[in-house]
Amino acid sequence: MDLRECKKCLLLQSGEEDNYNLVQEYIKKIKPGEKCPDGLYSERLEKCKRCDNLISGVCIKCGCYVEFRAAYKNKKCPDAKLKAW
Ligand code: SF4
Repeated sequence: MDLRECKKCLLLQSGEEDNYNLVQEYIKKIKPGEKCPDGLYSERLEKCKRCDNLISGVCIKCGCYVEFRAAYKNKKCPDAKLKAW
């Protein structure tokens, strides 16, 4: 497993398989009414993958794993200027 810092990478691309699996387990526990629809979730992550604030799956603006933050329907991109999603 390669744990080097990976710019614009989500967890699996960063070699963070254990954290990826943990995040997926947490996502499964999100109540259906709070969960982001699949299509919108993918769109959000595509925007994160083009963002300089994404380092090894973590948004440096909020310290969250973006794959988890984006899974909540009502969460927003934390960058007040960018407002990517
Ligand atoms: S600033 Fe917004 S678009 Fe960029 S990584 Fe964070 S959540 Fe994603």
